[in-house]
Amino acid sequence: MAILTKSKSKTIDLKSFMDNIRQRNPNEPEFHQAVEEWAECVLPYVNENSKLADFGLLERITEPDRVISFKVTWMDDQEKVHVNKGYRVQFNNAIGPYKGGLRFHPTVNLSVLKFLGFEQIFKNSLTTLPMGGAKGGSDFDPKGKSETEIMRFCQSFMAELYRHIGPDKDVPAGDIGVGSREVGYLYGMYKKLENEHTGVITGKGIEYGGSLIRPEATGYGTVYFMEEMLKTKDKSLKGMRCLVSGSGNVAQFTAEKLLELGAKVLTLSDSDGTVYCKKGITREMLDYVMDLKNNRRGRISEFAEKYDLLYLKDEKPWNIDCDLAFPSATQNEINEKDAQALIDNGCIGVAEGANMPTDNDGIKVFQKAKILYAPGKAANAGGVATSGLEMSQNSLRFSWTREEVEKRLHQIMCDIHAKCVEYGKNKDGSVDYVKGANIAGFVKIAKAMLAEGVV
Ligand code: NDP
Repeated sequence: MAILTKSKSKTIDLKSFMDNIRQRNPNEPEFHQAVEEWAECVLPYVNENSKLADFGLLERITEPDRVISFKVTWMDDQEKVHVNKGYRVQFNNAIGPYKGGLRFHPTVNLSVLKFLGFEQIFKNSLTTLPMGGAKGGSDFDPKGKSETEIMRFCQSFMAELYRHIGPDKDVPAGDIGVGSREVGYLYGMYKKLENEHTGVITGKGIEYGGSLIRPEATGYGTVYFMEEMLKTKDKSLKGMRCLVSGSGNVAQFTAEKLLELGAKVLTLSDSDGTVYCKKGITREMLDYVMDLKNNRRGRISEFAEKYDLLYLKDEKPWNIDCDLAFPSATQNEINEKDAQALIDNGCIGVAEGANMPTDNDGIKVFQKAKILYAPGKAANAGGVATSGLEMSQNSLRFSWTREEVEKRLHQIMCDIHAKCVEYGKNKDGSVDYVKGANIAGFVKIAKAMLAEGVV
């Protein structure tokens, strides 16, 4: 395997670095995309701070510590046997136990989980809490499954995963397709197998070790991050017209905090289409969506029908006039064309609730237009930060109040924003939040890895 090492006279160029990544990780486009976005920011910094690339650090940081792949077998209600793929990618534990969500979605594969695990390293570092980076999941599709099928699948998934996790080793959480219901079933099975009640998974119900504000944290944190960016331009969220995509956990609580802070939420969506409410979604409407999605597992088109709103079938929200955008569904939901449409329609700020929702060409459009653009690894770090607070409360066997957790979450988002500004300042005084998040997240990991030696 070719190893790129830093020499005093030679700088590391992006092309040879990425050629090496592609050769070592064939057929993993999402992973290549995530590494390239990161390397574009980090390599110039490393070339100026050559010590950070000593001891093969860049090669080591882009290779997962461990990839666990396993079979998940389960029987449906008609007694038909199904076999799914299960994974856990333990990417890097330089600064703390592995930490990152589990995703259940038919699009899950190794490339997707490696991209998510890689981003998680730097996101977790930005929170200032001691958490390494990991991600896992399955190509299982929870849609249309009965309650007992979901439970059986979660139990079978945990029957293998439990060997590889632990409160000081690896602490999973939810992600797409894994909400409080699935976390409950996963945790129940872990507890049965290990016969211990520990903080081995976060996002637990409040009755059995969960933290207040954890369900709200990612969405609330994303809005707090946007608020901080707007302050740098002497603006606030009041009256801002916001496009939100998705209608799951992140989208719901992004919309809730936006309403609380006086902004107007124009859209919500799912993988079938977008609902557009020009006057702005009300609190009553949001309650309806929360019940529809969380309890009745319905489609967003039913929301449009109920309130007689415009339903844009098979469309994403990005062609609508707006001030701000909060992509909160999935990766690559904003391409170059979508990004240009947002700019043309008046968008002045984007905060990513989802992970890597904007592809690398889309990011370039935002950067060229010099709008406020916060990448997911900074803007949506509030979720994992509050998971970190859940781990602390579990260790202390103590529960903080709602106000206490939200105050800590708010402070962490302000601190992440400040770090991005510190590392992302351009010569003209503007802030490149992509550069800031990538470099700030990287420096801490690099220092820890150098201190810990080649292991
Ligand atoms: P949920 O499963 O609760 O909701 C996901 C939403 O996105 C649903 O509305 C879903 O629609 C939509 N969606 C999923 N896949 C696609 C797709 N391929 N195309 C269009 N729409 C899609 O997940 P979360 O809200 O938890 O996660 C959303 C994003 O936020 C993900 O990128 C996740 O990684 C990220 N994130 C989540 C955190 C958390 O704390 N939950 C923390 C940090 C980031 P449908 O029902 O039709 O599938």
